[in-house]
Amino acid sequence: MFNQTDQMADIRRIAIVGSGLAGLTAALLLQRNNLEVTVFEKSRGPGGRMAAKRVPGGSADIGAQYFTARNPSFLEFLGQYAGESSFGAWRGRFGYQNSEGKWESFPDEDRYVGIPRMTAITRKLSETVELRTQTRIQRLVPDARAWVLQDTDGRSHGPFDAVIITAPPAQARDIVTNSQLHDLAAELDDPVLHIQPCWACAAYFKEPLSVSYDAMRCQSDVLYWVANNSSKPGREDSGQWWVLHANPEWSRDNEHTCAEQVADAMVCAFQQVAGCSVKPDDAVTHRWLYAKSSSTDNPGFRWFGDQRIGLAGDWLSGGRVEGAFDSAEGLAEKILSL
Ligand SMILES: Cc1cc2nc3c(=O)[nH]c(=O)nc-3n(C[C@H](O)[C@H](O)[C@H](O)COP(=O)(O)OP(=O)(O)OC[C@H]3O[C@@H](n4cnc5c(N)ncnc54)[C@H](O)[C@@H]3O)c2cc1C
Repeated sequence: MFNQTDQMADIRRIAIVGSGLAGLTAALLLQRNNLEVTVFEKSRGPGGRMAAKRVPGGSADIGAQYFTARNPSFLEFLGQYAGESSFGAWRGRFGYQNSEGKWESFPDEDRYVGIPRMTAITRKLSETVELRTQTRIQRLVPDARAWVLQDTDGRSHGPFDAVIITAPPAQARDIVTNSQLHDLAAELDDPVLHIQPCWACAAYFKEPLSVSYDAMRCQSDVLYWVANNSSKPGREDSGQWWVLHANPEWSRDNEHTCAEQVADAMVCAFQQVAGCSVKPDDAVTHRWLYAKSSSTDNPGFRWFGDQRIGLAGDWLSGGRVEGAFDSAEGLAEKILSL
């Protein structure tokens, strides 16, 4: 479209769609190399799937539960831009059910969380970024050798020399389809098929439960994960908030089930997993239509030089928080190397 003009000298202003970890990482890495970056986010605040829901007395992490930092530059980046006080290690007891249904402990590993909630990290990262929240990008419109972004309220933003889309694949595909970029949209068909939904439920127990593990990957018809959110560092809950995640199959089968019924079924499954019959004193739910990618194809990131459009996000790099960082770091390095 732009006749192979993806020279760095021509790229000064960059638009980034999405303020999850991938979008904010790309923004900060490009900005420190003197590029002008604007981040657009459809929600009220940054964070994406590193999400926390306000609950009576505090908050519960209803999206990403913890993250690893095997790539040393990830911790370095977080220390520099989010600050040491916004995250820390979660020293919980982690267990899983083996194929015979017996509980075993997970090997020790450094597992990190935001403090006092998962969103603390992305709030900090977004502080020095130009972020336009409540702005859902609908399409990209070519304007001479640049892009103008149009949002769903009919506003135009730009022009920008390049665009990075960090939305999950179905939302990224909508944007490029609306922009008449049909070849690019076709490349997203397969990634869209690999995104799995997830019902999440946060359940409150006034009296602490007596359970052997703080976090459990379980074999259940309904659940695949339960964790005592109150065991994470910096949470000052009286009582315990447990976060339950339904498995992809159950979540898909119950996509349209009402929230009350979902909470009942998930709590009932939790009681079986935890071996207790205590009823929760409160419960809230959240439905993730695009939770995690099951794809084994991990190109890292995509850069379409002709169009000056980049794609980054967890789904291109293993489907986890650290993958979102790796993907954005890879794309930022690619753009800076042009
Ligand atoms: C239930 C659940 C449990 C998880 N557990 C873990 C875990 O324990 N460990 C782990 O490492 N990972 C976990 N993950 C995955 C982890 O949350 C993601 O890998 C990571 O947060 C993805 O970051 P991202 O920046 O790539 O995408 P996102 O966080 O999804 O960011 C994309 C952003 O784009 C915005 N957006 C979308 N469309 C538009 C548009 N048109 N205009 C403007 N903005 C738009 C979205 O609102 C969002 O903020 C979990 C995810 C879920 C949902």
